[in-house]
Amino acid sequence: MPSTAIPLSQKLYSYINEVIPDRGRGEFGQLSSASDHGTLTLMNGGTLSMQAGVNASGPAGKHTMTEHELVEDIHRLKKEKNAIILAHYYQQPEIQELADFVGDSLGLAQAADRTGARTILFAGVHFMAETAKILNSGRTVLLPDLNAGCSLADSAPPEKFRAFLDAHPDQVVVSYINCSAEVKAMSDIICTSSNAVRVVQSIPADRKVIFAPDKHLGAYVQRMTGREMLLWDGVCEVHVDISLDKMKFLLGKHPDAKLVAHPECPPHILAEADHVGSTTSLLDFVQRDPGHTFIVATEGGILHKMRQAVPGKILIAAPANMENSCACSECPYMKMNTLAKVHSALLTGSPEIFLEENVRAKAEIALRRMMQLG
Ligand code: SF4
Repeated sequence: MPSTAIPLSQKLYSYINEVIPDRGRGEFGQLSSASDHGTLTLMNGGTLSMQAGVNASGPAGKHTMTEHELVEDIHRLKKEKNAIILAHYYQQPEIQELADFVGDSLGLAQAADRTGARTILFAGVHFMAETAKILNSGRTVLLPDLNAGCSLADSAPPEKFRAFLDAHPDQVVVSYINCSAEVKAMSDIICTSSNAVRVVQSIPADRKVIFAPDKHLGAYVQRMTGREMLLWDGVCEVHVDISLDKMKFLLGKHPDAKLVAHPECPPHILAEADHVGSTTSLLDFVQRDPGHTFIVATEGGILHKMRQAVPGKILIAAPANMENSCACSECPYMKMNTLAKVHSALLTGSPEIFLEENVRAKAEIALRRMMQLG
């Protein structure tokens, strides 16, 4: 295998060691070694993109890539690596703007399923990138920051969930997509907030149902379907922190405003809502409803697409109990992804999502059941 040795500045050498913890892998694995005397050895001619994309800096010639340069180079890397970027509505606007597809969990799973790209860069949180990998065992799935987790997914640790299912046998297990691959693998069928009601209605009426991990979405589905379900006690830390008092104050200031809310919100918020639905459903509602002012009770990132869709309407983020700079409800995990991390992930092929094949295959069965229902 041909190799090339390139002299490195100490700063560049440190950068490479920091951003490429796992050297010598697959399509992105051209990096063979970065030696202590400052030489980078690359295999298979992968050198040029590595050099062009790095935030090259050093005492004598400091250059940090600007946002414009990062965006340009991300587009170049996407072509070079045959990659697509899928982004959730809760991502930062600049990441949504360069994504090939922006959507909610259902739309993103469907987009991941139909792509022919070799690499999927998932600008979202860990369980979403896992979902893309479950549906694409042969493709590379990258997540810009492996620490981008989810309080809701974390509320159902696999070993506790296994014990819970063992204590309640013979029930149909419906899991919201916001859960780990291991929990998906223990489930009969997955749902998203777009199709949770439809999924539960598809289960024969004489079967008992376990719904996990979001108890508020589960309670909402119970109200919509009239089905009694055993609910796992999990919540999204962002949606449960939406402040009813501050929201009522806003409604007082804007008496004509309509409240739209995501079903991960607790019942006392949903009881005030004019429309309840997934992020895509909320986006559709503000477009087709004749109202002019809307208070939006979900993560604040959705406002970017809403403002583009209805520039003439007033959109106000429902405030959180916690004081924060955005005066909205912001998911700290979603906001871990940055342009620089997207760039680094495409450049280096890391961090990559890996799953045990037996877990992936079982989880895929539950996911595909959902996707057949749409
Ligand atoms: S908004 Fe809530 S459910 Fe969504 S990723 Fe953040 S913590 Fe998880």
